[in-house]
Amino acid sequence: MEKIYDMVIVGAGPAGIAAAVESYMLGIRNILMLEKDENHNATIRKYYKDNKRVDKDWKGQKVELDGNIYFLDGTKETTLDFFDEVIKAHGVELKTHTEVNKIEKTDGIFDVYIAGGCIKAKYVVVTIGRMGKPNKPDYKIPSSIKKLVGYTLDDCKDGEKILVIGGGDSAIEYAVDLSARNEVAICYRRATFRRANPTNQKDIANAIAHKEVRPILNVNISGLEDENGKVKVLFEEIEAEVYDRVIYAIGGTTPSAFLASSGIEEQEGKPVHDDNYETAVEGLFVAGDITQESGGSIALGLNHGYKIACHINNNCI
Ligand SMILES: Cc1cc2nc3c(=O)[nH]c(=O)nc-3n(C[C@H](O)[C@H](O)[C@H](O)COP(=O)(O)OP(=O)(O)OC[C@H]3O[C@@H](n4cnc5c(N)ncnc54)[C@H](O)[C@@H]3O)c2cc1C
Repeated sequence: MEKIYDMVIVGAGPAGIAAAVESYMLGIRNILMLEKDENHNATIRKYYKDNKRVDKDWKGQKVELDGNIYFLDGTKETTLDFFDEVIKAHGVELKTHTEVNKIEKTDGIFDVYIAGGCIKAKYVVVTIGRMGKPNKPDYKIPSSIKKLVGYTLDDCKDGEKILVIGGGDSAIEYAVDLSARNEVAICYRRATFRRANPTNQKDIANAIAHKEVRPILNVNISGLEDENGKVKVLFEEIEAEVYDRVIYAIGGTTPSAFLASSGIEEQEGKPVHDDNYETAVEGLFVAGDITQESGGSIALGLNHGYKIACHINNNCI
């Protein structure tokens, strides 16, 4: 007979790992975590710069951890090592390179569809985050300069003249980090960086004061053009400027197509769920960044996972 898992987790970020590991600690077995990337925590691996400081109280939101995963401030690398150990110590099966396309419930059991097949489960927790599709600008980016426009620091080369677009923590961290090796400007539509956490506000103020990062504030971008193989940035309020590279750090989007194909209702950019993060489809849960319009964090995701594990353990299995 085909194996039926007690629990399948879709997406191995902090929220998914917490749902899996906390469930395991409560005695639930047969847990499978499915991750589309080559390892767990693709958001941290791709979007955090190397050696990035990782704050537990991200964006200044104080979060008390409810569960048993004792996550502390650290760096990108210590955080990834920490999650490695947490997964290994708790008998949770992680299947990587496995993207889930949709989820259907038939006769009380879920079919979790992956390329070339489907996996059966009694409970499913969807924790796919919002960074699978980073926010992109409304204007069209000419294809000839697409390779010079990015959403992570991946392709940046030392010595480039770079414009970072955004005013939140990620944009500030990118700009300050790049400024050690590049000529950097940061462009934000507001007048101050008040949305960022106090450390990043201090870092950007310092970088600006020392002329390491040039602020372009209170401006909106109307488009990008190809200027002899470089990126010409057109501003609404000021003269255009030319850069070697442009990085957008303006958050992620709700995976609406996935939610719709899995029968999860969405309202105002968020999946509809109850206090236990259960959707209208009984046994189908959502957790982590996808439940937040913006401003999710590792600690919040860990708490969501713990709450779901307790609910399933107390009420279902
Ligand atoms: C640049 C940056 C810096 C940040 N710094 C901090 C910080 O210092 N402290 C902090 O607390 N928070 C920080 N955050 C926020 C934090 O990373 C997120 O809140 C957290 O990662 C959300 O966890 P999650 O489990 O909900 O989703 P994610 O971490 O996004 O994980 C989702 C996982 O699901 C996988 N996935 C997606 N679609 C599918 C699919 N269809 N099938 C299978 N797998 C799928 C993805 O590959 C990914 O591994 C930062 C975010 C960014 C972008």
